[in-house]
Amino acid sequence: MKNEADVIVVGAGPGGAAAARYLAAEGFDVIALEKSRFPREKVCGDGLTPRAVKELQLIGLETPRDEGWIPNHGLRMIGGGHRLEFPWHDLESFPQYGLSLPRAQFDHRLAEHARAAGADVREGWHVDAVIVRDSLGEFVADKAYAERAAAVRPGGEARVVGVVARETDEKGRKIGEPVEYRAPLIISADGVSGRLALGLGIERKANRPMGVAVRTYYETPRHDEEWMEGHLEIWDGERGHSNLLPGYGWIFPLGDGTANVGLGTLSAKGTPSGLDHRALMRDWLDHSAKDWEFGKQVGDIKGAAIPMAFNRQPHYVPGMMLVGDSGGMVNPFNGEGIAYAMQAARRATEAAVAHRAAASGAAKEDALANYSRMMKDDLGGYYSLGRVFASLVEHPTVMHVCTKYGLPRPLIMEFTSRLLADVYEPRNGNWADKLLSALVRVAPAA
Ligand SMILES: Cc1cc2nc3c(=O)[nH]c(=O)nc-3n(C[C@H](O)[C@H](O)[C@H](O)COP(=O)(O)OP(=O)(O)OC[C@H]3O[C@@H](n4cnc5c(N)ncnc54)[C@H](O)[C@@H]3O)c2cc1C
Repeated sequence: MKNEADVIVVGAGPGGAAAARYLAAEGFDVIALEKSRFPREKVCGDGLTPRAVKELQLIGLETPRDEGWIPNHGLRMIGGGHRLEFPWHDLESFPQYGLSLPRAQFDHRLAEHARAAGADVREGWHVDAVIVRDSLGEFVADKAYAERAAAVRPGGEARVVGVVARETDEKGRKIGEPVEYRAPLIISADGVSGRLALGLGIERKANRPMGVAVRTYYETPRHDEEWMEGHLEIWDGERGHSNLLPGYGWIFPLGDGTANVGLGTLSAKGTPSGLDHRALMRDWLDHSAKDWEFGKQVGDIKGAAIPMAFNRQPHYVPGMMLVGDSGGMVNPFNGEGIAYAMQAARRATEAAVAHRAAASGAAKEDALANYSRMMKDDLGGYYSLGRVFASLVEHPTVMHVCTKYGLPRPLIMEFTSRLLADVYEPRNGNWADKLLSALVRVAPAA
């Protein structure tokens, strides 16, 4: 079996599968290694805003309703005694609808889409570590070589030249001997665990927000309703007599008899909150969302961490790019990560194309390194605003005031709905688009 390619992609979630698709479509020889087998569950809200729908359009994935894609027209927000609907804005740069589809199907379809473009997506391959070449030779970046691995940094001589992987059986257990896969470019799209990055000592930044979220599925007669619903009152004790937590509960109908129901909270500095999210979710549902007439719970309540606002950098070290959750690319305003993982895959491909076209070694390396700059230019300013937002809403009073007094003010929400969803017109929009674009431009990207 061939184990050399132009690009090896590690992980075939939205970031990895999108990268495999884009790169293969550009004529690169791509192998994507995915430890699980599709269709597989992924803990997620399964919700897509117009920003994510735009990414699906850009990558050319069809989303017909008769194949399970349920459109939504906006966000219904409930909190502070209000219940208000905010339709997606009519903008030139974005479609005016969102979508939802369970990740088990979403990820499978994106992986098939990559295969259709010629990418070799190999399921059941667990990547253990990267292979590094430095002035002393080659080594596998495991604990024994931590110091040498930490020298793989922008501008340095040491570079990633491959990965070591092992096949897994149906239960995910590693079987067989380690196999080396080699390529001039490795894309690490291995999700929040960031295993490859950690092998190079690229730790998560302590000053960035992290979310924690849990979700399950419930049967509901309103399963095909075309609205996403957000509940802003999550209490850390007795309702009305304790603190409002920075976070929200969601109900995203899936059109298959069920809705994805979940809850997430935010920590501005990524410190563990000690909160029992399953208990918070049960308490929320004991008191709210009765009008959904939830029936049987389908599957356990499962949770995961959500890495936000570029909490792992650099996004490029010689020979390797971080794409999606491995680079902490989730939006700190709303916990959305699929759109950004796909956007990063698009940018990574642009960098690879520029690398192929560049004449000299230095220009080639600069083309790859430009991936980090593109991501910062695209999202750095917005994510800096998100970091401020995360620090503010950690104060229960701010959360209370925003929910009670902000929600019913149309002028405030004209702006805030764009800010929270990251769906606005970057040029030639209305006053709210212009204000947000200006803020994003002046906020320092970090
Ligand atoms: C509860 C919850 C709700 C969320 N809700 C939403 C939502 O509604 N909308 C939204 O846009 N985002 C949501 N997110 C965030 C979203 O799930 C992530 O941002 C998104 O999945 C990131 O995609 P990715 O490709 O970077 O990583 P992942 O989706 O995590 O994919 C990584 C892939 O790499 C594979 N992998 C990992 N390690 C290895 C290895 N060593 N070798 C080989 N393969 C490996 C994994 O099996 C996986 O397939 C939610 C997150 C959580 C936790």
